[in-house]
Amino acid sequence: MELFAVPDLPEIREGDDLAALIRDRVDLRPDDVVCVASTVVSKAEGRAVDLADFPAGPRAREIAANLEAISGDEKDPRFAQAVLEESTEVIMEAPFLLTETRFGHVGVNAGIDRSNVPGHDLLLLPKRPSESAARIREGLPADRVLVTDTCGRPFRHGQRGVAIGWAGMAPARDWRGEGDRDGRELGVTVENVADELAAAANLVAGEGDDGTPVVVVRDFEWGDHGESDAHFRDVDGDLIRQAVRGWSFD
Ligand code: GDP
Ligand code: MN
Ligand code: MN
Ligand code: MN
Repeated sequence: MELFAVPDLPEIREGDDLAALIRDRVDLRPDDVVCVASTVVSKAEGRAVDLADFPAGPRAREIAANLEAISGDEKDPRFAQAVLEESTEVIMEAPFLLTETRFGHVGVNAGIDRSNVPGHDLLLLPKRPSESAARIREGLPADRVLVTDTCGRPFRHGQRGVAIGWAGMAPARDWRGEGDRDGRELGVTVENVADELAAAANLVAGEGDDGTPVVVVRDFEWGDHGESDAHFRDVDGDLIRQAVRGWSFD
């Protein structure tokens, strides 16, 4: 398997046809997995916004005041308002704002980015990243597309890429029922291939001014395994979320 960045992509603007820009720069093969950083999907979809677009309501002002008191740093209540408007649930509001976005992804600040957004204050995540992935896929000779974002993880320092949208492939490879080297049957292993590929692609894409938001994974083989559509956990089956909901910071 190899990974390479699509070269010479321009600064992406609202209305740009990402598939056409990619197609013009690389000869894709049907079984390539094209990994697109959410940042450029958002830019193309007009998700760059300004703090002035989010007049803060009472809940946002309360959240920002609390965060400001805890951190000692100035917190703009309009930013909290933007996070609330992108979210269906506030899971934690201190010492950072952790929410579920409208498409089911749980992340700090609803994944709203303040880097790589020329001319605007904020970049919201794509509204429905799997639909974005499907649209991009339609314009490409490659059969599989992932939309990625850089995200932190609980229990570990540092960030890495995750898949927030996918098309043309199931997110996970199901090992249940297969054997290990000792003949023991695997009972629970559902490997999130979409996240694994997204992490590798993110490693190639970089985080700063590299200008390489699209990475092609070539010769990745699924192998003889089942598929699983499970990606974002349902609230009911999410024990960690249920525990964190009852937790308060002081
Ligand atoms: P995220 O992980 O989706 O939040 O995206 P990042 O902001 O970390 O950017 C990922 C990569 O895309 C980095 O190499 C950035 O330099 C690059 N990038 C971001 N926006 C653009 C753009 O409009 N055009 C190009 N060519 N590269 C971009
Ligand atoms: Mn991001
Ligand atoms: Mn990134
Ligand atoms: Mn193992």
